[in-house]
Amino acid sequence: MKQQYIITMLAIAFLLGNNRSAAQLANTLPKNEFGLTIVSNAVYFKASITQDSLKQMVAIDKYVAHVKTNFVYATTSNFTHKILYSKPKAYLRLAAVKALQAVANNLKTKGLGLLIYDAYRPYSVTKTMWQIVPDDRYAANPAKGSGHNRGIAVDVTLYNLQTGMPLPMPTPFDDFTEKAHHNYRQLDSTVLANRQLLKTVMEQQGFKALDTEWWHYYLPNAAYFELLDIDFKQMKKLVK
Ligand SMILES: [Zn+2]
Repeated sequence: MKQQYIITMLAIAFLLGNNRSAAQLANTLPKNEFGLTIVSNAVYFKASITQDSLKQMVAIDKYVAHVKTNFVYATTSNFTHKILYSKPKAYLRLAAVKALQAVANNLKTKGLGLLIYDAYRPYSVTKTMWQIVPDDRYAANPAKGSGHNRGIAVDVTLYNLQTGMPLPMPTPFDDFTEKAHHNYRQLDSTVLANRQLLKTVMEQQGFKALDTEWWHYYLPNAAYFELLDIDFKQMKKLVK
């Protein structure tokens, strides 16, 4: 394992020294047990973002006005009943954050803001979730990875800028019943309108909705953004 790491680092150093492309660099990284390439070191991460500044990871609150967070995965009040990470911060790729910025500017004119439950999530957290709940109705299968691991998916709702209170939505976050589906319509008109407003403003800026989770939005070209397994402590040093 240690030898593999040294070989990888030497290959990275060689390719960087020769100014080769990040794609070639990717070929030097070992694949995991599912055949996926996971970026888990700062050297390759930095190389992978030099080809496109929109791949840079950034702190959402640096770009998006009035954004609030409620990291339920940093508490035991989530579907796994376990603390899945500590000291999180809301990070995403610049491509996603620019889109969220436009969403927030639009919402501000309506007296509303964005409340985020989860944004970037290290790949190892996706693996932990799967170990606890190995059911792809509730958790992302690590054999595929999640848009959250790629830094282009966000779990989000709306809140009232004046009261600070979240708007009524069909279900709480991570409710895995059909009530959380976009096509579920046995709801009062206010709730239907709130769900639709969130969907409309997110889609206007290029996000896609997930049929089964009213709170989950992602950029469509997910595979372009590498899967990342960099913890929040290290990511803090890498964000712009
Ligand atoms: Zn999500």
